[in-house]
Amino acid sequence: MLAYIGIGSNLGNKRGNIHRAVKALGADPGNRRVRCSPLYATEPVGKKDQDWFVNGVISLETSLSPRELLELLLGIEKKMGRVRGEKWGPRTIDLDILFYEDQILKEPDLQVPHPRLQERKFVLLPLRDLAPDWVHPALGKTVSRLLAELDTQEWVIPLDEGNEKPCTV
Ligand code: ATP
Ligand code: CA
Ligand code: CA
Repeated sequence: MLAYIGIGSNLGNKRGNIHRAVKALGADPGNRRVRCSPLYATEPVGKKDQDWFVNGVISLETSLSPRELLELLLGIEKKMGRVRGEKWGPRTIDLDILFYEDQILKEPDLQVPHPRLQERKFVLLPLRDLAPDWVHPALGKTVSRLLAELDTQEWVIPLDEGNEKPCTV
């Protein structure tokens, strides 16, 4: 199954945290072909009085179910010392399932596609780098189109310009 994961960090060594999480994803025997997008420096959205984030998107082939994948993501977050404090507050690492094939899940603790991805430039930009033509299964629009229709002002600045080689594990 093909899945897309949103990844972000705004505490400590942000890029280092992202690389560590990508490695941990690749180390799980259920996952293969783990690739990550170029990374972006992004202005915090929702809760403004915190440091900027580094954000990216990961694609992977997985034999894990959506729920098993969520458990893996929460386990990696925990191992990397994430403490859940304030809603949308600072974090060493945040891993969200954006898409899992074309599945639609609406469970209390697991919504796929991620319910806010279409509102977030910091998700749609790196997602477009990997999957511009991917169709959102509920909205029926491609990632490129969702981005084109997004009317928000927040800063999302490429960190990897001129270095197009995506990281592989
Ligand atoms: P947001 O979801 O708006 O990006 P957040 O990432 O800060 O906010 P968290 O505190 O990381 O929110 O996650 C809270 C809970 O969201 C998780 O424990 C998980 O059960 C639930 N959740 C629901 N859908 C998803 C999903 N697609 N990916 C990851 N977590 C999800
Ligand atoms: Ca998130
Ligand atoms: Ca999350």
